Amino acid sequence: MKKLLAGIRDFHERVRPDYRERFAHLALGQSPDCLFVACSDSRVVPNLFASTDPGDLFVLRNVGNTVPPCIVHGRARGDGLDASAGAAVEFATVGLGVRDIVVCGHSSCGAMQAVMAEAAGDGGQKASPNLDRWLSHTRASLQRLAREPTLSPALPAVDRLSQVHVLEQLEHLRTYPAVAERLADGRIRLSAWWFDLANAEVLAYSAETHAFLPLVELMGELE
Ligand SMILES: [Zn+2]
Repeated sequence: MKKLLAGIRDFHERVRPDYRERFAHLALGQSPDCLFVACSDSRVVPNLFASTDPGDLFVLRNVGNTVPPCIVHGRARGDGLDASAGAAVEFATVGLGVRDIVVCGHSSCGAMQAVMAEAAGDGGQKASPNLDRWLSHTRASLQRLAREPTLSPALPAVDRLSQVHVLEQLEHLRTYPAVAERLADGRIRLSAWWFDLANAEVLAYSAETHAFLPLVELMGELE
């Protein structure tokens, strides 16, 4: 908490003067052009590695950068009880009209490690029923991992799962009518990114090569 409080003081004294005008403008409304879905992991800092300013990104962060499949008219294609992520998707698409949705996973993800431990029969004492329930949304990713032997074969299994999981979340996003409609007429794009912590490098999935490549190499395709 000490560091947090020192940061608030620093913001107040050093940073705030430069941002006052921007925030005064932002207080009138927001118009971010991207929904960014990332893990809650403390080492993943989207605004830092994407060099974005206040107002640029609508961010959804949760354990394992997960978007459960859409609930349709009260009946769940998933299980219907984890609507928070879906609410953010609908708010960003219908309410804010974002042009892009990026799902960004990362290396050494604790959520993916827990999923793999559970699958190996080493799930612990079940002291975290909510976490267990939330991670059950990764089941499809785990199944997909077995079908994706050519995706980043040199990486540890947990990182391969994390990459496959990102691709799987794009499929989940397509189950949202608001997303599907906008994909059909080109109003929105979906992207799969992955943050390599050790190299502090952002990778992006290239369907052409079926690989995650350094984002800076793909800039031309994405712009
Ligand atoms: Zn994570």
